[in-house]
Amino acid sequence: MQHARIIIIGAGLSGLYAAHLLERLGVANVLVLEARDFIGGRIAGMPADGGSDRFDLGPAWFWPEQQSALHQLVDELGLQRFAQYDQGDMLYQRAAGEAPVRMRTYASAPPSMRLIGGMNALTDALHGTLRSTRIVTGQEVRRLRHAAEHVEVDSVDAAGAVTTWHAGHVLLALPPRLAAAGIAY
Ligand SMILES: Cc1cc2nc3c(=O)[nH]c(=O)nc-3n(C[C@H](O)[C@H](O)[C@H](O)COP(=O)(O)OP(=O)(O)OC[C@H]3O[C@@H](n4cnc5c(N)ncnc54)[C@H](O)[C@@H]3O)c2cc1C
Repeated sequence: MQHARIIIIGAGLSGLYAAHLLERLGVANVLVLEARDFIGGRIAGMPADGGSDRFDLGPAWFWPEQQSALHQLVDELGLQRFAQYDQGDMLYQRAAGEAPVRMRTYASAPPSMRLIGGMNALTDALHGTLRSTRIVTGQEVRRLRHAAEHVEVDSVDAAGAVTTWHAGHVLLALPPRLAAAGIAY
């Protein structure tokens, strides 16, 4: 059985940011358990040919005036941004199998900002700040048990093997719907 002071469940933006903040506070022995075999969660861009840049498939924009903490983090990590291009027409496809239609684009106000390299630049940069945090991918947490002095965390890998971890504290960094449906307490 392996012990961590804090186990964070989920290596999406929330889990990586929590690990970043804990390291900044000097908290040692933090472990992140991630169900999938990659980090970033819903920020999962598609590799663009050859380089490290990725096409944003879902989360793509941020709005500095409305997301001030995110804006500050983008600055702190030294990420380069640009305003969403909004001139001319756009192609819009409502559903797979339907032909895209040409529409006039619109300017968003305040302007939508994007990151050079795609939104994964943010999760990759956060990951890059982590020095002592251990991230284990391919471990889907299925059960939390509250013992006298600690919390027991059971996770399952792709082959169905169960691992039990001990933690002083557990931080759920996954959507509440998944936390309720996928984990027994
Ligand atoms: C299509 C789409 C477009 C969006 N566009 C924008 C946008 O333009 N701008 C914006 O600001 N926001 C946008 N969002 C919202 C944004 O993506 C989310 O707010 C953000 O990515 C959530 O991060 P998170 O870490 O909280 O959750 P997630 O990214 O969902 O991360 C949770 C992680 O937990 C893991 N996990 C789940 N269950 C378990 C388990 N049992 N054990 C271990 N690991 C587990 C998952 O695999 C995942 O990696 C968009 C969302 C979607 C879906």
